[in-house]
Amino acid sequence: MMCNDARLLLHAYLDDELDAAQSVAITRHMQNCPACTARYADYTQIRKGLAQASLYRRAPDALRKQWSSETPASVVAKPPTQARRLSVPLAMAAGFAAALLLAAPLWFYSQQHPSDDTTALVDDAISSHIRSMQPQHLMDVVSTDQHTVKPWFAGKLDFSPRVKDLASEGFPLVGGRLDALDGHTVAALIYKRRLHVVNLYQWPTTTAAEQEATQWHGYTVIRWTSDRMRFVAVSDVSEDDLKQFVLAFQNDAASPQIR
Ligand SMILES: [Zn+2]
Repeated sequence: MMCNDARLLLHAYLDDELDAAQSVAITRHMQNCPACTARYADYTQIRKGLAQASLYRRAPDALRKQWSSETPASVVAKPPTQARRLSVPLAMAAGFAAALLLAAPLWFYSQQHPSDDTTALVDDAISSHIRSMQPQHLMDVVSTDQHTVKPWFAGKLDFSPRVKDLASEGFPLVGGRLDALDGHTVAALIYKRRLHVVNLYQWPTTTAAEQEATQWHGYTVIRWTSDRMRFVAVSDVSEDDLKQFVLAFQNDAASPQIR
């Protein structure tokens, strides 16, 4: 995880809103990053400060009287205490609206997916794909050469990911990165399809699963297992294009692999 990504998630981390994998990633990042640790300490202080009861004061009677006399008759008709209370839900609504704006893509699909294991993985994969589009998050190793990308993972993972260039099929490999998905540390390979990005995640598994495709608000997620590896491909290309990508990746398994 890079500082930019950590900063994006710090508020959610502070509010305990992250999933387990993201929390672990932030915790690990802060163990080695004094800057983000200091920032986190600042946020904690601010939150504590704002919660102090001493910050809340009852308005002096003179002010309350003045405020009442300047307020339109329709509002004055209500007792002032009630009018004051009204502003709290309003402020909360504004805050909630702002939070919605920030979290819109994630919020919409978590509204519509029931939260079973499969959909949790799909949610996770789409979140990760969206996050990877943030500046400087997409790639840790930039290379169109599978002989560069594959060794880059060595020592960073306890498994050896399958890395293939699919340029001849219209999906050039552009790089890779480490990521976290569904509670696993995973290899993410990045492919391009014209101007679009395809993220392909993989990690070892002991259980076989059917190939499944899910459409969500312009994103397609295809999951499958092969040879004791779990694969999840995510992109905003058309479903047909992503199926073609998956086929190309699977078919290419017949050709000699890089070790
Ligand atoms: Zn940092």
